[in-house]
Amino acid sequence: MPAKTPITIAYGDGIGPEIMTATLSILKAAGAELEYEVIEIGEKVYKRGVSTGIEDSAWESLRKNRVFLKAPITTPQGGGVKSLNVTVRKTLGLYANVRPCTSFAPYIHTKHPKMDLVIIRENEEDLYAGIEHQQTNDVVQALKLISRPGSEKIVRYAFEYARAHKRKKVTCMTKDNIMKLTDGLFHRVFNEIGEEYPDIQKDHYILDIGCAFVAEKPEMFDMIVTLNLYGDVISDIAAQVAGSVGIAGSANIGDDFAMFEAIHGSAPTIAGQNIANPSGLLQGAIQMLVHLGQTQVASTIANAWLRTIEDGVHTKDIYSYNHSHDLVGTQEFANEVIARLGKLPDHFKEVTFSAETKPFKTVRYSPRNQQKEMIGVDIFLDSRLAPDEVAAKISGIHIGELQLRIISNRGVKVWPNGATETFCTDHYRCRFRSPNNTAISHNNIVELLAQIEKTGLDFIKIESLCTFDGTLGFSLAQGE
Ligand code: NAD
Repeated sequence: MPAKTPITIAYGDGIGPEIMTATLSILKAAGAELEYEVIEIGEKVYKRGVSTGIEDSAWESLRKNRVFLKAPITTPQGGGVKSLNVTVRKTLGLYANVRPCTSFAPYIHTKHPKMDLVIIRENEEDLYAGIEHQQTNDVVQALKLISRPGSEKIVRYAFEYARAHKRKKVTCMTKDNIMKLTDGLFHRVFNEIGEEYPDIQKDHYILDIGCAFVAEKPEMFDMIVTLNLYGDVISDIAAQVAGSVGIAGSANIGDDFAMFEAIHGSAPTIAGQNIANPSGLLQGAIQMLVHLGQTQVASTIANAWLRTIEDGVHTKDIYSYNHSHDLVGTQEFANEVIARLGKLPDHFKEVTFSAETKPFKTVRYSPRNQQKEMIGVDIFLDSRLAPDEVAAKISGIHIGELQLRIISNRGVKVWPNGATETFCTDHYRCRFRSPNNTAISHNNIVELLAQIEKTGLDFIKIESLCTFDGTLGFSLAQGE
């Protein structure tokens, strides 16, 4: 008899315990070779004052077992509390979030019967870096961090996944018409790495129209790869238009660890009533079995689940008078799946997972050494003065090659000859650059700050302006 694979599990909050119990009963009946170590995470842990929602002992289990099946948890709202999901994903380097969203028409009601889409969401970077500051009375900022290694990893993962799962097309979604550096890097990496996969079709949509098409014509997409925040939004839209958020599972994959879950949350309003659909967590568990190489058991469960859906045995969220036969509770649904283990679907295509569909390790990133040259500095000020008054205090300062070129407020040029229509906050960006882009030194910046300090202005942040291999590494202000 094969040895059982130890994994870590968490029953979570809200509907978590019900759907986990139901899912485990199916895994057991199907003969999954698994051994469980249970950790406590979420609401109870937050209430003990642990702001991350997870204790050190739980990390030990995760690091030892490397595979985590997690029921949803409730994130208390309010300051000081961190999202446990984000913490786990980032700490364990789970860079790829894989979210298949498929419709099961005519058995589960949907306007999109041909939808069969996999969303690959970058899982560690973007605004989820969680670096936010209040800089002035009027202004707060969040840093959107996009890295080349992070972008390369997720884009390559998407193309490898497409090949392994015999998918034909990968669509990239960004907003690089506005965020030319951050989203622009992601799009560029998509184009570069895409060249290594001539067998896969590629296209790109600007996020807003892309989302509109996901909601209206999802069948036009095969796979989508995108940044963290966009992927979060798109996958909830996609799961819901496929039929219910209750039927979609998700895999979070890293080089050394993996976490599997439902895409939905802890749904506290329906907790404890035995009405939640366990299918989302079950789909996550099926992805986990494939990841662990237990492809036969994964296929058996996937086919029994399809047969249950075809037989019209449905939980409340997917029940409809036209398409359903029996309305069942959470555990009863699981029992019906168990009763069909070994049976194949009649209408849907039989699922056969093979070793090739197992997630894989990605190639290591090879760093680039671009020639970096500093040619200026943005100095951010907290000031209630009018733009011309700010300029009057600092436009006469010349340090080496550095001189004031432009002042902007909320990104709009307000000096020289600035827009008079825009309203100004107390947050100014003063751009000092050398004419002809000649190089400047750190000492120049230190001296510049010392001069500004003498004017009594309050500087709150600096950002150096550099070229990389001669290309500007910063965006121009509107009107610059
Ligand atoms: P939610 O996904 O928990 O629920 C939204 C609604 O969807 C529910 O009211 C319910 O009607 C329906 N629903 C969700 N899952 C279902 C299921 N399995 N069966 C039937 N119907 C289902 O979203 P929410 O209410 O915004 O969030 C509740 C809590 O979950 C919050 O604290 C949130 O932070 C947390 N959350 C956790 C995760 C996670 O652990 N991965 C993900 C998202 C949200």
